[in-house]
Amino acid sequence: LSFAHCNLPQKLLHNIESAGYEIPTPVQMQAIPAALKGQSLLVSAETGSGKTASYLLPIISYCTNFRKELSVDQKKPLVMVLTPTRELSIQVEEQAKILGKGLPFKTALVVGGDAMPRQIHRIQNGIEMIVGTPGRLIDLLTKYNIELDSVSILVIDEVDCMLQKGFREQVMQIYRALSQPQVLLYSATVPVEVEKMATQLAKEMNVITV
Ligand code: AMP
Repeated sequence: LSFAHCNLPQKLLHNIESAGYEIPTPVQMQAIPAALKGQSLLVSAETGSGKTASYLLPIISYCTNFRKELSVDQKKPLVMVLTPTRELSIQVEEQAKILGKGLPFKTALVVGGDAMPRQIHRIQNGIEMIVGTPGRLIDLLTKYNIELDSVSILVIDEVDCMLQKGFREQVMQIYRALSQPQVLLYSATVPVEVEKMATQLAKEMNVITV
């Protein structure tokens, strides 16, 4: 399997090439087609496996097609990515900028230590993806009225770490603010608490291990 067989938009294939990715990593080979089909996934993958691109590529593809075909309200976010740390959120956004270059794929970073009015302003100006940490996102959601009914994909990265840090309730609170999104869970380890969370987030969860 190559990226060209993944049913991704031409422009995105070009960005993948520019990023220097030649062939999909094992986790990408499995997760990209499944995510493109709209399935919810529990993926056990570690840092370094190419996990970030394995969700960003189907997400960018989705956003590109959505904006093109439906030309709906440009202002509303379509995707939310939760990470347990500020650093990981920053890295995800950086990779999103590289892979989404020249495509209708604007991002907003919502993490602590960054001015909140600036973050909210960016979201209100119209973006496709919000990436951030649960605490700061809840702060933002409770202080400002952001419509999230348009969010149809929720990614939770490093779920095991998220639970270890005690973010469980905050993650569930964010999930409840969405309307039954496709859920993409990524975790290095899959202890029973991670499995339990997965069953609460989607009726059918496709498990991917590499
Ligand atoms: P991650 O596991 O998401 O932290 O990714 C690890 C690194 O691999 C990142 O620097 C990515 O830019 C890079 N990467 C992701 N997918 C590929 C690929 N298919 N080929 C080469 N490098 C990749």
